[in-house]
Amino acid sequence: MAEVEAGKNFVREIMEDDLRTGNRDHIATRFPPEPNGYLHIGHAKSICTNFGLAKEFGGTCNLRFDDTDPVKESTDYCDSIRHDVEWMGFQWANEYYASDYFDQLYAWAQELIRRGLAYVDEQTAEQISENRGNFYRPGVPSPWRDRPAEESLDMLERMKNGEFEEGHCVLRAKIDMAHQNMNMRDPLMYRIKKVSHHRTGNKWCIYPMYDFAHGLSDSIEGITHSVCTLEFEDHRILYDWFIDALGLPHEKHPQQIEFAKLNLTYIVLSKRRLLSLVKEGLVNGWDDPRMPTISGMRRRGFTAEAIRRFCEVIGVNKRDTTVEFAQLEHCVREHLNETVPRVMGVTKPIRVLIENYPEGQVEWFDAPYSPTDPNMGTRKVPFSRELYIESADFMEDAPAKFYRLTPGREVRLRYAYVIKCVGVDKDDAGNILQVRCTYDPETRGGSTPDGRKIKATIHWLSRAHALPAECRLINALFTVPNPLADEDGDFKKYLNPNSMEILNGFVEPALADVKPGYHCQFERVAYFNVDDDSTPEHLIFNRTVTMSDDWAKIVKRNG
Ligand code: ATP
Ligand code: MG
Repeated sequence: MAEVEAGKNFVREIMEDDLRTGNRDHIATRFPPEPNGYLHIGHAKSICTNFGLAKEFGGTCNLRFDDTDPVKESTDYCDSIRHDVEWMGFQWANEYYASDYFDQLYAWAQELIRRGLAYVDEQTAEQISENRGNFYRPGVPSPWRDRPAEESLDMLERMKNGEFEEGHCVLRAKIDMAHQNMNMRDPLMYRIKKVSHHRTGNKWCIYPMYDFAHGLSDSIEGITHSVCTLEFEDHRILYDWFIDALGLPHEKHPQQIEFAKLNLTYIVLSKRRLLSLVKEGLVNGWDDPRMPTISGMRRRGFTAEAIRRFCEVIGVNKRDTTVEFAQLEHCVREHLNETVPRVMGVTKPIRVLIENYPEGQVEWFDAPYSPTDPNMGTRKVPFSRELYIESADFMEDAPAKFYRLTPGREVRLRYAYVIKCVGVDKDDAGNILQVRCTYDPETRGGSTPDGRKIKATIHWLSRAHALPAECRLINALFTVPNPLADEDGDFKKYLNPNSMEILNGFVEPALADVKPGYHCQFERVAYFNVDDDSTPEHLIFNRTVTMSDDWAKIVKRNG
């Protein structure tokens, strides 16, 4: 792949420092998705950071399903997450679940009660929230704050046994009700949720809160660097508090490091929002090729290598930025340009008749799959009297600068002959039925023996041999760069009604047996990927990216 300078990655620097100074003697990371949806391009950044850096430093990365909120979680989501991580090119050292640690976490909760560092609070949710105070006002201690440990232990046991209704009581850490960081004002550790869990079934009806569970799960796994996004910066103090309160040793004390979330123009991230697009039928499922999910991008034809490259180029930092979607497409285009075969496909066909080409005759031309790499081989493309060309390559009343096909002008048909337009047939309404041409038999293979200049070379298909192909032109899912800009958060009004244009095109016969996931470039048109629903009887191609590089234009415009 062309060398683009990699962006700065401060997490890499921290790890390098830790190894150099001996603060750590190895690197152990984890990627901790909550299985409540499919992974998106934001997660890809986290995957590349966690798995990528662990690999780089000879360390390990666990896949940990952060399944502490049973309401929205499912095993199907776990399957899709595993598949996406592997497809991204990474292998986890261990597959774990936060729910694996429920017993240990419960024992630790009891331990904190015994140490006078946690208590069962029977205030209502409203009272708890009211009494927490705010930035200007310290909190008011709960009347249950100083109840004896024995009592809290008993209450916790009864919470666990299902004796109370949801909301009746919670377990809280006893820290500091006047702390300037609100997260330290006796945060919740457990709440009652009478919901069955995708792995623990009905064993539990109390579930640990993220802040209590996450750092301790990291600690159990011996994670050295726990990378998360910036919104947890204010929670780090609490992350450290739980580990310290339990007296866990340095090697069991991971370092939480926060980095900026990835945002991209013309899409929305966050599983919650993507789920609502799926649920409301505004897209055709999580893996719709317009979706910014890993599965959607894969179906559209983005490659894992290109996504990894993109993550490398944008770097990892502490400042929230929005990256141009065009930059991601640029990385995809670069990778496809170097690796995929060139074939001929016509997305908006018009018919061409070669008047002087013998009826019934077929010639098969050798065509290389790559302009530069002979190892990619060749295939034969058939030529005959009736062809299809791209309608954009013909213009009846063309300006002088139009070098493609127009009455009286010659063009070269890629790999075949030079043809000249001699007329146009139209129906009564003025629609073009076919373009009439003659071919020059002396130009077989495309060269002109007399040296005359032919300005344009266009792609084409033999009509008798062309295979129908549904071409899905994938466009931006939203019409504005930031669909979340509005106060009301209603991003759906910006959905692009033309996010997928479906064209009835044709492709050359060499593509008869292509399988889903086959990438190619329709010469001069765009890069395409064979859709998952494609069959030999009904070929479907998704446009992955166009030929023109919008990113280059943006870079140029911004100097
Ligand atoms: P979402 O709001 O989309 O559900 P999340 O942060 O709740 O995102 P998790 O499943 O908890 O999703 O995330 C797993 C990991 O991926 C976390 O470490 C999280 O910080 C990271 N992550 C999620 N979204 C992004 C993003 N946009 N950019 C970078 N990392 C992200
Ligand atoms: Mg989440």
